[in-house]
Amino acid sequence: MHQDSDSNSSCKTSRDLFVRATKSIPGGVNSPARAFRAVGGNPIFIQSGKGPYLYDVDGNKYIDFIGAWGPLILGHRYPAVIEALEVMLTQGTSFGTPTELEVEMAELICKMVPSLDSVRMVNSGTEATMSAIRLARGFTGRDLIVKFIGCYHGHVDSLLVKAGSGIATLGISDSAGVPKSFSETTIPLQFNSIDALEKCFAEQGERIAAVILEPVAGNMGCVLPHKGYLEAVRSITHQHGSLLVFDEVMTGFRLSSGGAQKLFNIQPDLTTLGKVIGAGLPIGAYGGRRDIMEKVAPLGPVYQAGTLSGNPLAVAGGLAMLRSLNGNQAIYQQLDELGAQLEKGLLKSANETGIPITINRIGSMMTVFFNKGPVTDFDQANSSNTECFGAFFRGMLNHGIYLPCSQFEAAFISGAMQSEDISQTVDAAHSVFQDIVKKGYTSN
Ligand code: PMP
Repeated sequence: MHQDSDSNSSCKTSRDLFVRATKSIPGGVNSPARAFRAVGGNPIFIQSGKGPYLYDVDGNKYIDFIGAWGPLILGHRYPAVIEALEVMLTQGTSFGTPTELEVEMAELICKMVPSLDSVRMVNSGTEATMSAIRLARGFTGRDLIVKFIGCYHGHVDSLLVKAGSGIATLGISDSAGVPKSFSETTIPLQFNSIDALEKCFAEQGERIAAVILEPVAGNMGCVLPHKGYLEAVRSITHQHGSLLVFDEVMTGFRLSSGGAQKLFNIQPDLTTLGKVIGAGLPIGAYGGRRDIMEKVAPLGPVYQAGTLSGNPLAVAGGLAMLRSLNGNQAIYQQLDELGAQLEKGLLKSANETGIPITINRIGSMMTVFFNKGPVTDFDQANSSNTECFGAFFRGMLNHGIYLPCSQFEAAFISGAMQSEDISQTVDAAHSVFQDIVKKGYTSN
């Protein structure tokens, strides 16, 4: 482990805290994605973050490749965000009334994300997707929703069908507690298969309110759309009068300043956004075409509300970060260069040590699959050697590299990283790959 004197370590260890946590929190964690069940060992308790680094309560420093599961695209304690939060703290923490900052935030989001005419703030990605599909149903008067196997859209009852992220990691096929009648309104299809989508629409097109997808999946590990796939989804939904919902909770403001839709030049009807727009504070949003958004209360009959929606602290922090990203082509270029350096270095090390891996990467989002590849859908992602991934994860952690604790999550690079951080990560991986070979693990 990397002991670091900057860390404000206390006499409490992660191990002690975890034992304590299990007595008052289910599984000791407030979100299953934080549990280390799939990779072995116990979760690390973090004390603080600075730039690209995390510091745990045990006195170790890590290069952080989870970035709070996406939002910290500019790293921990980004100065403009901290300053905005400090100013807001002198004014209040919540008012339950409209504020000027919310208007500025909505205007900026609509300016940056091409398909948005209007946007409603909520408190999480889950709320955003739940509200977007209710709106799609209210707008079209239809009930069915198409989703893709391995995509995760938060823990909305009807969207937990064949979901990725923690649910795939724990090997739970569908969550208990969801009435059959709810999951029956969801049609799960294979990601990247135009045939499956065409067939489904040919049979039930008139009953489908919306297709929801992660335009680049991050929750079965990073899986890119085939060339032409998103265009086909757009045209099929349009043809049948169904709405296309891009869930950009992960890709929004990460793949470009206008998200995946700007990068791939596709106009969805609705878009969901999450963590990124709060710079790490709890927030989410959904938005889209004006005629659809006008169906939301108080303008229209689709009800959706929230006491803390547009919370001033979350909005202040998020707005500061979005302003730093707006028109900042250089940051996306830097993220891509760091990503390319990491991808190249890891592939070289894996080749030299004889471990077959597949790396899926787009900009600053990537996954190392312990699998010969290609990985273009959930079945392929799921054929990875997760034992090998677990050994990789634990080895990297011991070298001070904090990766997502699941084969079915994307790692994120932050703009606070330098080329040296990537070199250190590649060196660590080289030695971990060698250990994996010595221990006799093999990729599938
Ligand atoms: N959609 C996607 C694409 C996500 O990645 C996530 C969370 N990782 C969600 C929705 C749910 O967001 P939250 O955890 O904020 O509810």
